[in-house]
Amino acid sequence: MATINDNYSKLKAGYLFPEIARRVNAFAEANPNAQIIKLGIGDVTEPLPEACRTAIIQAVEEMGNRDTFKGYGPEQGYGWLREKIATSDFQGRGCDIDASEIFISDGSKCDTGNILDIFGKNNKIAVTDPVYPVYVDTNVMAGHTGAANDKGEFEGLVYLPIRAENNFTAEIPTEKVDLIYLCFPNNPTGATATKEYLKKWVDYAKANGSIIFFDAAYEAFITDPSLPHSIYEIEGARDCAIEFRSFSKNAGFTGTRCALTVVPKTLTAKASDGSDVELWKLWNRRQSTKFNGVSYIVQRGAEAVYSEAGQAQVKGLVSFYLENAKIIREQLTAAGFTVYGGINAPYIWLKTPENLSSWDFFDKLLQNCNVVGTPGSGFGAAGEGYFRISAFNSRENVEEAMKRIAAL
Ligand SMILES: *Cc1c(COP(=O)(O)O)cnc(C)c1O
Repeated sequence: MATINDNYSKLKAGYLFPEIARRVNAFAEANPNAQIIKLGIGDVTEPLPEACRTAIIQAVEEMGNRDTFKGYGPEQGYGWLREKIATSDFQGRGCDIDASEIFISDGSKCDTGNILDIFGKNNKIAVTDPVYPVYVDTNVMAGHTGAANDKGEFEGLVYLPIRAENNFTAEIPTEKVDLIYLCFPNNPTGATATKEYLKKWVDYAKANGSIIFFDAAYEAFITDPSLPHSIYEIEGARDCAIEFRSFSKNAGFTGTRCALTVVPKTLTAKASDGSDVELWKLWNRRQSTKFNGVSYIVQRGAEAVYSEAGQAQVKGLVSFYLENAKIIREQLTAAGFTVYGGINAPYIWLKTPENLSSWDFFDKLLQNCNVVGTPGSGFGAAGEGYFRISAFNSRENVEEAMKRIAAL
């Protein structure tokens, strides 16, 4: 008799977004004339940059010609793309990262989950609370946790609370953890990390033999020149960190799919016999076996991000969303809300007024303003009493939503 991976039964049944959809649909049915504005979803809205589209179209034409047709590419990604990333995103910022340490993939969501393939079953794993739910759920699926309690916290995970009191940056744990997920600029709080702060994590990881999973999906939104874009800007990070990056949020590739993971060759972890094993070799083996590379067409589209026109267009996209974020911040502040984030990130994290629960505020905003956001409690127990507003929308929708909230 076939059996299932019982760990899947421990998952909270995709609670957050289905519950949002249920409440929005019920409201829309009861109020068919309401013009609902959705500022809840973490997906981009603006079209693909022209430079990327041009490169994609040209690549499609190459695929239509016997002489330039491409079959399977390298599982790690094409060298020309890895080289451009290494030079522009890393070496250009003083990070000692070689093209061979960059693995192209079809998404950071899959990579942050798949990376667990190369790690043992008995690692102590730390996540922030609130957190990008993928980090938690992939560990549950891999059997790294026990059951969830009624707050949604899984037994066996170490939750590091991030709150206004610590600037939404987790305190360095006093206990020893082996794997740590950090995301800066942060989804959902929009918080950022300074070099000094990341240095503390790097020092901790090196002292404890831990590995940091650094999710830099929103690095393009950093406007403050003093903030690091990569963890490899921190001395010693090559020996303790894996970095995840994506073309989803900077170049609008959420539907096109291209991302990258950096695994430095100097990074090692222990085998059960106590020996040190290079993680690069394991990840290379894993990708070569379970992955057959990103489409040539899409990689050419990603490469165009590094052209002069591509850089200008991506900058334009990011500035557009950041201007939305600024409007949201200013209007909400003027309306008396306490807001965080939204300066170096496309997310605004607000404290719910009058100590409303995240879901009560969700309902209030939906019913009175017809605006949809994301309840902070959906990202973790410590997100209770907070609410996420996304800047990924048209200017018109953002301005209209803010006008309605101001009139509340
Ligand atoms: C959007 C996002 C990503 C990117 O995921 P892709 O699979 O590359 O689209 C990664 N991490 C976080 C925290 C995100 O919000």
